[in-house]
Amino acid sequence: MSATIEETGSGMKLHTKILLGLVVGALFGILANQTLGGTHPVVEFVNTYIAGPVGQIFFRLLYMIVMPLVFASIALGVAGLGDLRQTGRVGAKTLLYFLVTTALAATVGLMLVQLVKPGTRITPEIRTGLMQTFAGDAATKVEAAQHTNFGIDTFVGIVTRNPVKSAVDGDMLGVIFFGLMFGIAMTMIAEDRARTMTRALEALNDIVIKIVDMAMRLAPYGVAGLIFGVMSRFGFDLVAPIARYVAVVMGALLLHSLITIPIIVRVLAGLSPVLFFSRIKAALVTAFSTSSSAATLPTNMAVAEQSLGVPAKISGFVLPLGATMCMNGTAIFEGITVIFLAQVFGVSLSLGGQIIVIVMSVMTAVGAAGVPGGSLPLLVGILAMFGVPGEAIGIVLGIDRILDMSRTTVNVLGDLSAAVVIGRSEGVWSPADVPTLTANGPLDETPDWAPPVAERRPPAGGRAAG
Ligand code: ASP
Repeated sequence: MSATIEETGSGMKLHTKILLGLVVGALFGILANQTLGGTHPVVEFVNTYIAGPVGQIFFRLLYMIVMPLVFASIALGVAGLGDLRQTGRVGAKTLLYFLVTTALAATVGLMLVQLVKPGTRITPEIRTGLMQTFAGDAATKVEAAQHTNFGIDTFVGIVTRNPVKSAVDGDMLGVIFFGLMFGIAMTMIAEDRARTMTRALEALNDIVIKIVDMAMRLAPYGVAGLIFGVMSRFGFDLVAPIARYVAVVMGALLLHSLITIPIIVRVLAGLSPVLFFSRIKAALVTAFSTSSSAATLPTNMAVAEQSLGVPAKISGFVLPLGATMCMNGTAIFEGITVIFLAQVFGVSLSLGGQIIVIVMSVMTAVGAAGVPGGSLPLLVGILAMFGVPGEAIGIVLGIDRILDMSRTTVNVLGDLSAAVVIGRSEGVWSPADVPTLTANGPLDETPDWAPPVAERRPPAGGRAAG
């Protein structure tokens, strides 16, 4: 029996260890920040030589396998679906799900920010003070925004000219497109040839998932290191002036996570939200600590397959797409931030303007890269559309990391909900497929079942799979 993401081999379960890492890292970080201060030599030392390297090694281990994983799982997913028609149907359904949930998320955020109006409380002094403090960072984002055009070229660009270069540049959509074409072509060539490639890709996939298992053993320490770094350097005094804004973003993220998604999971996937959440903790904590949907993808895939029992042909197709295209949390954040900054600058938006904010929030959430702060340059672009200076982003930059961690968690939650909903709608997954766990408590669950990934796949060869 091979170990899975849920097991550590030691007494304590991995979930518990990761959560413990999160709490310990956060507590020590806050303690260091409040007693010594974020720039104290001891704090700097710990960040430079202990917490930082451990966190970065964990992050890099996950990030290292993203591109091979995306390619292998998309190609296998598409080949597993069997033919172009089926791929088209699942693809269309998946994109529709992404769009609807993202639009729902953005709408909830917009309604909440209009209700609370946090921007009207910001005095010109606070506004100027924050903008001055973060003028340098804001200028970098404004500069980046100038290179981020969202138009026809964005779509043409998805058809990569060089998949290897796409992988090198972290252009996930390019790699996804190549994987898609590769998988489709696999279903069109002679079956025995295709089977050879399927086997090779399955082996690649299994190897990568094994690396995830190994990386996740480091997760408790990596998570602690990443959180310590954020908390020890965090300017808590920056929260106070914009506390209402932060509360609105967090409130909307919570509403989406605790009401909208659970209803969808219950109604469309037929799965108990409590069971759903209890199985996906490792993915959520990884998202929270790394602030990156892309870096969380390997963990997410392992969780979907091992802890939710979603077939590889569905999770391998839906999750890589979701990591870059389905960002519910980011849409919430973008919508709220645009309206908040418009309020701060006294720009009033008509109903039409607000609808445009929702549409733009959805589009930028689809277009944002799944990396820390990936949505910020796009946000600057939307601000400009409404006559708010791009530099205004400086007002929220000081607390962005915390918001980024939170919205990334919601992004990943949305991706996992898509995996079960699409799996159910295709008739290839049902709540009964969630592997039985020996429950010793909500955080202490270990699968009593853990065959190697390959054994759980449909027979090799795309056509055979259904
Ligand atoms: N960090 C987010 C993610 O990776 C993207 C963003 O909203 O900046 O999902």
